[in-house]
Amino acid sequence: MSTGLPKPLIVLAVPAFNDNYLWLIHDTHSAVVIDPGDAAPILAVLKSLRLKLSAILLTHHHGDHVGGVAQLLQHCAVPVYGPANEAIAGVSHRLSQDDCVTVPELGLQFLVLEVPGHTLGHIAYMAPEQGWLFCGDTLFAGGCGRLFEGTPAQMRASLAKLMALPDSTQVFCAHEYTLANLRFALAVEPENVDLMLRFEREQEKREQGLATVPSTIGLEKATNPFLRDQTPAIVRQLITSGRLHENTPVAAFAALREWKNTFH
Ligand code: ZN
Ligand code: FE
Repeated sequence: MSTGLPKPLIVLAVPAFNDNYLWLIHDTHSAVVIDPGDAAPILAVLKSLRLKLSAILLTHHHGDHVGGVAQLLQHCAVPVYGPANEAIAGVSHRLSQDDCVTVPELGLQFLVLEVPGHTLGHIAYMAPEQGWLFCGDTLFAGGCGRLFEGTPAQMRASLAKLMALPDSTQVFCAHEYTLANLRFALAVEPENVDLMLRFEREQEKREQGLATVPSTIGLEKATNPFLRDQTPAIVRQLITSGRLHENTPVAAFAALREWKNTFH
């Protein structure tokens, strides 16, 4: 008998490579994986929890996000969702802005957001009922992805799309880059008290071997410099350090991104 309540779902961060998180959502029977860059750790979790894979979701074409697809498909023939504008082997459903992905086994629905910048076809998946955002390498905890293919204007617009989601939205990004990102954020905005407190909290988590992800849209808006390029203190900092020559939002965003590229 259905109670009408959403099924209790568990989101697991499956670590892979140096700093990737492969996301696995399950209800103790069925599972969905997002960005399985490597098949082995996913297959190990499926086996140990005795889960049946229902679908694979991909955000963009980079190997650390899609590298495990072929091997997973050998074990279980499931639908593979990916961006319409990127050629990725194994994708059976190509998605664009506002498309909907349904995983009936989990009673789970995702809305697709196009977020070009890191790559040109990059998409993100929002589960509105759960308030979950899986955003690949677009928005990171405390930072954003490198601009490998897109322009600063594209990435800024993509991040604005994500900022428009409810503050309580949980942000599941694909890498554990948080402490390095927040060190940069502190150089950009040393007086931000929320940022200082966040840095201490995230440092403690890392010391205990815990993930700093997911964060929330609200926390990112308060502490992530790439969502704060119009904050007066940040604009002043960019101007006085000689990094901003044209006072427009896109120029400020581009200056932040370039600064971060060479920040150690
Ligand atoms: Zn990537
Ligand atoms: Fe990546």
